[in-house]
Amino acid sequence: MTETVQTELPTDFDSFAREVRSLAQRRNAIVLAHNYQVPWIQDVADHVGDSLALSRIAAASEAETIVFCGVHFMAETAKILSPDKTVLIPDPNAGCSLADTITAEQVVAWKREHPQAIVVAYVNTSAAVKAEVDLCCTSSNAVEIVESLPEDAEILFLPDYFLGAHVARVTGRKISLWMGECHVHAGITPVALRARLEASPDSQLLVHPECGCTSAALYLVESGEIPAERAHVVSTGSMVDYAKGAGDSHVLVATETGIIHQLKAANPRATFEAVNPAAVCRYMKMITPEKLLSCLRETELTEKYEVTVDREIGSRALKAVEAMIAIGNSSKFGE
Ligand code: SF4
Repeated sequence: MTETVQTELPTDFDSFAREVRSLAQRRNAIVLAHNYQVPWIQDVADHVGDSLALSRIAAASEAETIVFCGVHFMAETAKILSPDKTVLIPDPNAGCSLADTITAEQVVAWKREHPQAIVVAYVNTSAAVKAEVDLCCTSSNAVEIVESLPEDAEILFLPDYFLGAHVARVTGRKISLWMGECHVHAGITPVALRARLEASPDSQLLVHPECGCTSAALYLVESGEIPAERAHVVSTGSMVDYAKGAGDSHVLVATETGIIHQLKAANPRATFEAVNPAAVCRYMKMITPEKLLSCLRETELTEKYEVTVDREIGSRALKAVEAMIAIGNSSKFGE
């Protein structure tokens, strides 16, 4: 899928960065940027990472205000983990096509059909959805979370079909899957993957499990078409870790293209190439340098940018996140 994304780029990065730093300091704010943000936002942020890692950094920080450069459910997750801090997002309309595939009402109705089931939700969900599930998971710990459940447990997995199918394949568990998908990752297809692998037969391959090509990548490994040591189905956080040890290799990357900026920063010697260069999330790119500055400058109308979560919903959602942390490897995170 090809998307047209408009970004307002600062003509002078240094003065943009100086202003962001000075405004953030004045407001006692920490600026966080997701791996899929435009490079100028990544370069000016205090921390860059995946959604849950950033939320945990925010919770541990002494800053009163968290400015979350990412999409809305990520800022909500930060608020769930830091209910007493002010959480701002530079564009409150930055949504997520995957999170939007399921509402809290739909979770309740699905549970009613399966009253004995344990419901596992990928972190790419709204706070209201998290409040209705038993536990959350990330793309890194989803397998570990499902394996921790009783062998005979009935499991409902939402909202990402591709991630859920990957977990079902790896664990051998029978899992009912919600048919949600991220339009960006679904657009990284098996056809694109095969074409890229054929054009670069010696390259390494990093695949995010939300991708439409994950099954194809695993099939190619299982059939011996690509050696297992060349293919890695991992979260964005693990991609950055992998990059650090990648030497001077050529690495194909199957996820949103914004991550390539972090991969290059982690290892300037290696070459990183997108499996689908059009895999660009228009929601992530709604956060522009101009909007970040406006959000930081605005002190009177903070509510224009503020992300709030109802206390009761937030505390139920927190239980699902904490249940994950208690089971899963809390040092591994998701998108
Ligand atoms: S890349 Fe997909 S899952 Fe991630 S924020 Fe964008 S729409 Fe949502």
